[in-house]
Amino acid sequence: MLKDYEFWFLVGSQTLYGPEVLDTVARRAAEMADKMNDSGLLPCRLVYKTTVKSNQEISDTVREANYDPRCAGIITWCHTFSPSKMWINGFHDLQKPYCHLATQYNREIPNEEIDMDFMNLNQAAHGDREHGFIAARMRMPRKVIAGYWEDEDVQRRLGSWMRSAVGVMFSRSLKVMRFGDNMREVAVTEGDKVEVQIKLGWQVNTWPVGKLVAVMNEVTEEEIDALMNCYCQQYEMATNDIETVRYQAREEIAMKKMLDEEGCRAFSNTFQDLYGMKQLPGLASQHLMAQGYGYGGEGDWKVAAMTAILKAMSEGQTGGTAFMEDYTYNLNPDATYSLGAHMLEVCPSVAAEKPRIEVHPLGIGDREPPARLVFEGHAGKGIVVSLVDMGGRLRLIVQDIEAVKPILPMPNLPVARVMWRALPDLTTGVECWITAGGAHHTVLSYDVTAEQMKDWARMMDIEYVHIGAGTTVEKLEEQLFLNDLAWKLK
Ligand code: MN
Repeated sequence: MLKDYEFWFLVGSQTLYGPEVLDTVARRAAEMADKMNDSGLLPCRLVYKTTVKSNQEISDTVREANYDPRCAGIITWCHTFSPSKMWINGFHDLQKPYCHLATQYNREIPNEEIDMDFMNLNQAAHGDREHGFIAARMRMPRKVIAGYWEDEDVQRRLGSWMRSAVGVMFSRSLKVMRFGDNMREVAVTEGDKVEVQIKLGWQVNTWPVGKLVAVMNEVTEEEIDALMNCYCQQYEMATNDIETVRYQAREEIAMKKMLDEEGCRAFSNTFQDLYGMKQLPGLASQHLMAQGYGYGGEGDWKVAAMTAILKAMSEGQTGGTAFMEDYTYNLNPDATYSLGAHMLEVCPSVAAEKPRIEVHPLGIGDREPPARLVFEGHAGKGIVVSLVDMGGRLRLIVQDIEAVKPILPMPNLPVARVMWRALPDLTTGVECWITAGGAHHTVLSYDVTAEQMKDWARMMDIEYVHIGAGTTVEKLEEQLFLNDLAWKLK
């Protein structure tokens, strides 16, 4: 999917400089785009589009960007000076993500060569300030990246922002399939689906479980055989109860058919509505997540959608992204950790070893023991993400974590598990998370960063709260209080 998108490199200028300077600008801009593509650090292609010199050219290019489904955003730069009143009408119409790359063609000031001709051609320090003002004046959501364009760090940051922008594009067309409603009486998994569609673009709708059962009944033994082969290649079959595993395959095939038929990239279900089904989908949901579908348990369509979005943003990366739930703590002061798991459905993309297919009884849901993947999550830095509906606005909460190899083998725990230390430390982190209203369900990602989620939240125009190494409860409470006021005024 990342390869389906491109970003347009628009260079701001004006006619004042004459054709010779403008030709040089255009040639250099094309060269810069080519070299940045060749570095392999950008996940999507950067296309030098044009050097814009007038209000009309800017407006025309923006309209084209809005209309072209391949264009996931514009990246602007001013090699020379571009009077920014020329940009007002175009920027007013811009509906695509926007990044301002404040760079210059040359790395250094050439001591002997520099004269007024050089200054006229190479005045990005001047031009980029004029350009930046108008976006600030118009309160545009944007990313500003400054630095030398050939530097790896600048290209990495640009590439990282591109992934957030693709997350925006993905979000705006995301469809979520709900099998059954929200788990009875649970609050944090609820939300305003109309508001979410207005802000984030998600189409969240429901399909009857009875329809899923009808599709399951039509799945053929041959289809199940093929998926069982795939399971055996990717996972260790640690059960003799093959019929139970085959039932999960039947569920997966049926859910995938319904999801693909409707173009849905995320789904939720609930153990309280499995009418006509013999097992809660465990392995089935896990294997669908491994293929990029988002999932949320207990009817949690918000976390299902966020899982799909983070998976889309991190396409091609290998750390892993999973639906997760905080379960229990280890409060020994020498080793304070959260243990995350779920009843069944943690995505195997975060596994440290080959996951095992096991069958165990499930205490709730009143169904047959389901097959599920059991594994340990790997060590590494990551984030956990929660989207909550505050009534009148959405709040995205992101916390930095450091996952470790679980400090205990926990041989009787029949589910996938990840163990981590939340920042700034477990108890402060928990106090901050609870103060902000973060859910028990999260998306855990080793690939997506807090900065990428901040950029995404800004483009989606929703509140962003970050809990990291420097966060204190006092500072967070103050920020939440001010956010409340600010979002009431918006
Ligand atoms: Mn849950």
